[in-house]
Amino acid sequence: MKLVFATNNKHKLAEVRDILGSAFNILSLNDIDCHEDIPETGQTLQENARQKAEYIFNKYGLPCFADDTGLMVSALNGEPGVYSARYAAMDAPSDSPAAKSHDSEANITKLLRRLEGKTDRHACFVTVICLILPNGEQHEFEGRVDGEITLERSGTSGFGYDPVFRPDGYSETFADLGDDIKNTISHRARATAKLADFLRSNVEI
Ligand code: IMP
Repeated sequence: MKLVFATNNKHKLAEVRDILGSAFNILSLNDIDCHEDIPETGQTLQENARQKAEYIFNKYGLPCFADDTGLMVSALNGEPGVYSARYAAMDAPSDSPAAKSHDSEANITKLLRRLEGKTDRHACFVTVICLILPNGEQHEFEGRVDGEITLERSGTSGFGYDPVFRPDGYSETFADLGDDIKNTISHRARATAKLADFLRSNVEI
């Protein structure tokens, strides 16, 4: 079965293809010649995932799924949450190029600064996936991993906040642990595993 994943991120595509297996032909946005910026204006991860999936379904008429992820830090009342990608950019004037930047280094610097002096460093990553089947039916899957924000960066693999996120049960950050371990315990892996279970038991391939 052909299923569009509303992303061009190579890491995400590889991970999802690996978990879903060869029974599903996962197409990227490039594969369907979708090159526009898909709006992502929701106030929650659920709204953003749904908005992206509905955009593809309505425009291309293809079954699809989209994901959205946020890092929620307890001592910061859930920040950066739905704004994880543009956490530092939010401080730039809205009409400047910096306001559109997804600069992970700047995001981490802001996060560490905001946590200075705080003893509670608990955080979790949450991924929401919205799936739309050929008949328009929608289903949602959520994955979560808990951990803490370290005092400083460590490790070189992964992306985003990986150098400062240490998952519970491990003494190293995601960036130290590497993709093989991260991809078995991560928020996205857990949400994708639920998607895979659902597709295998409910969708004719
Ligand atoms: P997205 O919805 O997957 O694009 O994620 C939004 C933002 O959350 C990214 O730009 C990253 O800053 C952060 N993020 C998402 N997933 C991860 C992860 O697995 N590790 C570290 N940061 C992540």
